[in-house]
Amino acid sequence: MNSTPQSNAEEVAALYDEFSEFHARICDSNLHVGYWPEGDENSSFQEATAHLTDLMVRRLAPRTGQRILDIGCGIGQPAFRLAQAAAADVVGITVSKRQIERATARADELGLAGRVRFERADAMKLPYADGSYDAAWLFESLIHMPDKAQALREAARVLRPGSRLAIADMFREPEKDWSEIHPLVTAIRLDEYGPLLEGAGFTVVDIEDVTPHILVPETVRVSLRAQMLEHRDEWVRIAGEDVVKAMLDPEVNTFYTPGLGYVLITAERR
Ligand code: SAH
Repeated sequence: MNSTPQSNAEEVAALYDEFSEFHARICDSNLHVGYWPEGDENSSFQEATAHLTDLMVRRLAPRTGQRILDIGCGIGQPAFRLAQAAAADVVGITVSKRQIERATARADELGLAGRVRFERADAMKLPYADGSYDAAWLFESLIHMPDKAQALREAARVLRPGSRLAIADMFREPEKDWSEIHPLVTAIRLDEYGPLLEGAGFTVVDIEDVTPHILVPETVRVSLRAQMLEHRDEWVRIAGEDVVKAMLDPEVNTFYTPGLGYVLITAERR
């Protein structure tokens, strides 16, 4: 897998080869943010990340026997929950070899290896036939892909017409450029998603700004921050001082960078 201007696959793979184990050990096996419903101050980080997965599952509305593609699968936690929710067959792809190894081992442990499998592939050039999937999601993965139109065109190509696509991702406020903070993150504006999806062959069903719900409640934030601080040096080595600083700044909400929002999207392949 070579990195081209359209694909930063090798750099992303190197980041996640290291980061995934750390994040799983310190925080959670879900490599995405949490969702706290209004008034919920008590759910743990782990409960909140599972809650976000459940919202994505609902958006995808999977059915028994469907073939579903998880584009940017991390270490497989969302894929397992998805497969359990609907007795569907799930293929997860990531560019990280270590993520594949861990996700595959976990599928075995959970007795899901028959229905959930993981492959190393680049979302920019999916190794699957046209119309070979019934649904797909990009769960906090599009953020890393510099050519988002190409990623969405590829998703559209492998989906049969009428299929659902769900997206969970960050977006940036117009004045904010997150690439200044991390070179492997390219957040777009909220109003860019619609035209991008339409242009790639999807009809937008729903776009929801859920930013207030991803803010970590104070009690959870305090314990999470303490836990992360204990392993600060290791984290800095993996993610870089700027990222760690931005995430742990006592002035801002842990795991939240000012100027970034969070969106959930449902779309349908035309
Ligand atoms: N969806 C998972 C992981 C999110 S982290 C979860 O919610 O737990 C982002 C994921 O996107 C990582 O697995 C990373 O390897 C993957 N990714 C980023 N760019 C990619 C690309 N070009 N092709 C395939 N996967 C990619």
